[in-house]
Amino acid sequence: MTTPHHWAPVSRCDVASLTVTVLGSCGAWPEPGRACSGLVVEADGAAVLLDLGWGTLPRLLTHLDSAVAAGLEAVVITHDHPDHTGDLAGLLRARWYAGRDLPPLPLFCPSAVFERLAAVEKGGGLAMAHVFDWRGTPDTAEVGAFHLSLRQLPHYVDNVGVRVTSGAGTIAYTGDTGPDDAVAELGRDADVFIVDATDRHQQDGVPSAEAGTPAYNLTAAEAGQLAERARARRLLLTHFWPGNHRERSRQDAAAHFSGDVLLADEGLSVTV
Ligand SMILES: [Zn+2]
Repeated sequence: MTTPHHWAPVSRCDVASLTVTVLGSCGAWPEPGRACSGLVVEADGAAVLLDLGWGTLPRLLTHLDSAVAAGLEAVVITHDHPDHTGDLAGLLRARWYAGRDLPPLPLFCPSAVFERLAAVEKGGGLAMAHVFDWRGTPDTAEVGAFHLSLRQLPHYVDNVGVRVTSGAGTIAYTGDTGPDDAVAELGRDADVFIVDATDRHQQDGVPSAEAGTPAYNLTAAEAGQLAERARARRLLLTHFWPGNHRERSRQDAAAHFSGDVLLADEGLSVTV
C-alpha cells in the first residue's frame, strides 16, 4: 500500500466543466431524510456513478431525470459493503425491466460485489449479463469523456479508491479507507478530494473497530492530513457516522488542511 505511484498525465481537451453531486452522505446506515454513499460525476452531458448505497437509487433517477438512469457511462462500486452497494440490485431491475434497449453498463468493482448481486438476484444471470458489463478493478479505464484510475485502499474487504478525470479536472474518491500513503497518492493534486470521515469516536457507545484490527476508516482529522499531503484543492468530507456533528468534523479537518473543507450533503453539487 505504500509503493510510490505516479498517475499518468491525462490530456485535457476542451470540456467546460466537471461536476460531482452527492446522492448520499452517511456511512454504515442512513439517517432520516438522507442516504448512504453515492456520488454522480458529470461532464459534457455524460455521467459516472460512484457507489450506490441504501437510499441512493431514487435520488440518482431523479437527478438524471430518467427512470432507467439513461446517461450513465459507467458504474464504479468501491467495495462489497451494503452502505455502498445496497441499491445496485434496484438499478439492475430498472434497466432489465424498463431499459432493455440500453447497452450493457460498464461496472467496475471487486468480484465480491458482482457475486453478491448474483446472490441477491437468484436466477438473475441473464439480467446481469444484459445490464452490466463487469470489468473488475483495472488500474485505468476510459469510459466516454472520462479517464478512470482505480487504486487499492485498506479496508475490511477488497476496496478501491477512484480518480475520475475529464478535460476540466480531477475528482478523487476514497470509498472507505484506513490511513495509508496510498490515500494521499489517490488524491494527488485533485480538484476535489472526497474522503471518508467516519469519525466513530464522536459519540459515546459507538463500537470501535474490532480489537487487534487496524483502523479501516478515517477520522476527519486524518482526512484533512491526507488531503494536505495530496495537495488537493478542495476536501469534501463524507461517510459520516449517523448522528455525528458534521460541523465538528469540518473543524477537525480544517485544522490540518489549508484549502476549503466542504461537507457532503444530499443534493450538494460541486463544480470544477
Ligand atoms: Zn461504508
